[in-house]
Amino acid sequence: RGSSSQLSDEDNINVVVRVRPLNNKERGLGGREALQFPGKGQVVCDAGPGQKPKVFSYNVVFEPAATQEDIVEYSGIKRLLEMAVEGFSCTAFCYGQTGSGKTHTLTGPPGLVEKGTSPHAPEHGLVVRSFVHLFRLIRDRPDSHFILKASFLEIYNEKVIDLLNPGSARKPLQVRWSKESRSFYVENLFTVDCEELDDLFAVLEEGMRNRAVGAHAMNANSSRSHTLLCVRVRRDLRADGSVTCSTHGKINFVDLAGSEMTKKTQSSGKTLEEANNINRSLMVLGYCIAQLSDGKKRGHIPYRDSKLTKLLADSLAGNGVTLMIACIAPTKANLSETINTLRYASRAK
Ligand code: ADP
Ligand code: MG
Repeated sequence: RGSSSQLSDEDNINVVVRVRPLNNKERGLGGREALQFPGKGQVVCDAGPGQKPKVFSYNVVFEPAATQEDIVEYSGIKRLLEMAVEGFSCTAFCYGQTGSGKTHTLTGPPGLVEKGTSPHAPEHGLVVRSFVHLFRLIRDRPDSHFILKASFLEIYNEKVIDLLNPGSARKPLQVRWSKESRSFYVENLFTVDCEELDDLFAVLEEGMRNRAVGAHAMNANSSRSHTLLCVRVRRDLRADGSVTCSTHGKINFVDLAGSEMTKKTQSSGKTLEEANNINRSLMVLGYCIAQLSDGKKRGHIPYRDSKLTKLLADSLAGNGVTLMIACIAPTKANLSETINTLRYASRAK
């Protein structure tokens, strides 16, 4: 259900591609798939008659038959979770055009989480499966006491909205720099202590419900905002009944806004401003990641150029690991956006 080149334990960024299956409508139109998967983490795009096919390669490629479980087993997310427990800052994000499967990969089919479906249901995506794994890791470390805190926010038009405190939509939260922790943080962001799986699940459920309601009220499409769910993991190591050392790790799960370029002719006023903000934060993110994966020549990394990259800075900045899941659709009709996504993902490798 996929292929891989090699997954290194050393890389601080890991790029995988997930190709969604054809939907019923596309199948009705006769499929017209434009991609091939020759193995070894490669994706080949049929560029049209008379043109040479384009070949891209990644750490792992998940073909349309891949299951939600496959993603958790083979994307490298388990390594990120282990690192978060050990005190590192980690980020997993989905990139791709609207309809390519970002939200499905993170949180499953529409409405699944909002309905409060049991966290053990097989349709759940990377986020809930990661919660389950996180508690497994904690159970395996009886020498330590853990404190988990979760928050969930949305960045819409460069404004930060607390998804656990929907009143904040009227008064967006500020992103500030903390000298003490040497990282950016969101002022007055609601955080929830999570002692068990159900607590983390409740945060996700509540935030996703608020997101849907908020998007409706603002007459905004959820594909135009980024969401960031953060689980902070504090670990107190105990020896002889007293705490000997503490570590502070975290894992961010980010569902990015759709990467499609809004056609200039269709955009005006508010929509154009939105599109510019989306494009800017995705561009800055891509640039930060390209700089990082380019290990040797680390020049200036422009974290400060968008809210999103400020909040991800500590996990992008070498003290953590990032997993990028590039989501693509298989059809010819989506080919130009698919190639844009594959290029973006290639720069990050
Ligand atoms: P995005 O968040 O990138 O806009 P979605 O995750 O909402 O895209 O996916 C669009 C539709 O395709 C949804 O109905 C989703 O459930 C479905 N879909 C996406 N990926 C898959 C998959 N791997 N298997 C089955 N259905 C999928
Ligand atoms: Mg989505």
